[in-house]
Amino acid sequence: MSDFRTITYEVAAAVCTVTLNRPEVANAQNTLLIDELDAALDLADADDEVRVVVLAGNGKHWSAGHDLKALVGDTEPDEWRLMRETPEGKWFHEKTMYFDRCLRLRDFRKPTIAAVQGKCIAAGVMLACMCDLIVASDDASFQNPVLRMTGAAVEILVEPWEMPARKAKEFLLAAETFSAAEAERLGMVNRVVPREDLASSAQELAERIALVPPATAQVVKRSINKTLDLQGQRDAWDYHFQAHHWMHNTATALDALEARKAKGSMKEVFAEHRDETVFAEHRDETVFAEHRDETASAEPSDDA
Ligand code: ZN
Repeated sequence: MSDFRTITYEVAAAVCTVTLNRPEVANAQNTLLIDELDAALDLADADDEVRVVVLAGNGKHWSAGHDLKALVGDTEPDEWRLMRETPEGKWFHEKTMYFDRCLRLRDFRKPTIAAVQGKCIAAGVMLACMCDLIVASDDASFQNPVLRMTGAAVEILVEPWEMPARKAKEFLLAAETFSAAEAERLGMVNRVVPREDLASSAQELAERIALVPPATAQVVKRSINKTLDLQGQRDAWDYHFQAHHWMHNTATALDALEARKAKGSMKEVFAEHRDETVFAEHRDETVFAEHRDETASAEPSDDA
């Protein structure tokens, strides 16, 4: 387990902490990170000492979303890259690596807690929301501004389940950024703590959950998830995944992708659509400063 390259894995007091560990790109999720996260869940599942899993992020930001540099950028060819040349390949890639992997976390039998700090963008929001509880630091913020870049949100539409529908529309259509406090008010976040207390608070909460016998905790988690399924969550997500892919293959999205290849980043393609609320706050931040050439940050997740 020590040979992970994009995450870290540690167990303490019945709590397994998996930490996204690509701080140089704001923990953008590339193929390796997604695979290693999945492997970490295998380990946590198999270890009877582990009763709760905390999903943390190393560095200033929790996750800037998917790292698309390897998929549509000029460097680091990714094994999935060629497959994405066709609509069916793109569908298979995102179904396998994004949709199914996220749902595996959502359905993971042991309770999970996301410990979120800094920026949590697009597929970062999707990943955090797969966890059963979310603890956020007071500097955390949430946003999913990919609609302006033609994306039909990301692969799993968590927003209508995390906040009232009207707020979900505001969050997505107006590309609003919600602070940790606002996210807590909406019920998307369980509690907000000072940045320096984030890890200890998540651990403390996890240890409280670990007091419940594992079989009990797991059956109640599954029952609550089943309630959401019966309310239509799974069907709605299936629908959205298809709709998301329909959008991927429209002229609107394909033209933007071509323009992006020519310009080097989606941020440049849509420069004229920038406004101070969405992009300006990124531009001066490490998220974009450190990674300004490419997707993960410059394009808040989701492929063009
Ligand atoms: Zn997609």
